[in-house]
Amino acid sequence: MVPDKLLQELQAVKGFNEAAFLAAHEQTAPVSVRLNPAKDIGLFIENEKVAWCNNGVYLSERPVFTLDPSYHAGAYYVQEASSMFLEHMLKVILAEKKGLRVLDLCAAPGGKSTLIASLLDKESLLISNEVIRTRASILEENMTRWGHMNTWVTSNDPRDLGRLRGYFDVILVDAPCSGSGLWRKDPRALDEWSEANVQMCGERQQRILADVWPALKQGGALIYATCSYSPQEDEEILDWVAGEYDVTPISIELNEEWGIVPASTAKGMTGYRFFPDRLRGEGFFIAAIRKNEEAENLRPERLKSANDKKIQEQAAYLLRENNAVFIQTDKENYSAMLPQHEADLQILRKAVYMRKPGLKLGMPAAKEWLPEHEVALSIDANTALPFVEADREQALRFLKREEMGVANIPKGWQLVRYKGLGLGWIKSLGNRSNNYLPKQWRIRMDIE
Ligand code: SAM
Repeated sequence: MVPDKLLQELQAVKGFNEAAFLAAHEQTAPVSVRLNPAKDIGLFIENEKVAWCNNGVYLSERPVFTLDPSYHAGAYYVQEASSMFLEHMLKVILAEKKGLRVLDLCAAPGGKSTLIASLLDKESLLISNEVIRTRASILEENMTRWGHMNTWVTSNDPRDLGRLRGYFDVILVDAPCSGSGLWRKDPRALDEWSEANVQMCGERQQRILADVWPALKQGGALIYATCSYSPQEDEEILDWVAGEYDVTPISIELNEEWGIVPASTAKGMTGYRFFPDRLRGEGFFIAAIRKNEEAENLRPERLKSANDKKIQEQAAYLLRENNAVFIQTDKENYSAMLPQHEADLQILRKAVYMRKPGLKLGMPAAKEWLPEHEVALSIDANTALPFVEADREQALRFLKREEMGVANIPKGWQLVRYKGLGLGWIKSLGNRSNNYLPKQWRIRMDIE
């Protein structure tokens, strides 16, 4: 099934073993998930761990994730294991620094963004961007589930983000690619593979990198990744960067037992290759490069705080700590963010379309606060908010936007929780309740 053209091309690639590679493609892909350390409810503790990622575990079979309310609550993310290597790489690059600005440029559906969110301190800011609008809404859902106030979502072309000159400490470009590394998981990708497509992807990858490059700080790190085996999309792209800009490779220490192959390029860059016959994961390539060139340094104009003190008094009960500022971010929402991120909002708003800045709190109405869905999933939600604890069947009914079937719920807004994690809001009227799960979040599958 693997095209001959690709096999020929890979003969020259370090670590490639045709017979083992083809044999691995006869096997089914392992299933793995990455746990959300901020929503730890003791899931999968007995499972085998992914060697290069603290929160990654393998599952022995693929459950129907849709039918697990803890998945909807953001307790874990389904992600193939090779890409979790980003955690190991980021630990070296971030080196526990605080207050960083990180961009995930091609972020939907959010696998790498949720991973980054778990590694950053509260004062850092992650901008998860996805240019395609429909995919951006899935990204927004997944980031909302993960629950961090300092992960914001934008939906822009890389060129727009390039206007944020010298703003980011780290930029991840998980580039759109020919997808050969994912054939085991998605055999349909095979039909789309051609040499012409690999070439087109390579050109697009260069364009994306050139567009976003100005946004990286001097000394900042570019992380480049693909799920393609083709050197034209991997090593050759690193060499293109090295040819265009003043950069230094960042090398990452590996444990030999992991089976990851370090790949040196003609221009002295280093990348890391993942072959499915050498490790329990799919095809993947990742590299990190330091920017040496001087870059501009964007600063906000004099900041006049938009913090709404009255709103703060009204809505502060929604959050666990009250060190956030509350700012009207769109017609229907006030959002909470740390005060030091207000200047970021000002800078970002000028360049890009903010889909989700901070934590959306909702709006005041006549006699009450209309809480936004995001609050229910936030790790900063006040643990003292009134709640209804649902069992699995009740939680699934809630997630289908049906009546949950819980008797005697006290009147008013109630958080629906499953195993202690928020799923959404209901408003109880005593004898019945209204389900406030957003329509687009509803489980559409038939449930027995
Ligand atoms: N990082 C994601 C994750 O880990 O879940 C996967 C990203 S996927 C490999 C590449 C993404 O790039 C897709 O979401 C795709 O919509 C987006 N994309 C497609 N064309 C693009 C372009 N010209 N510029 C930037 N992003 C693009």
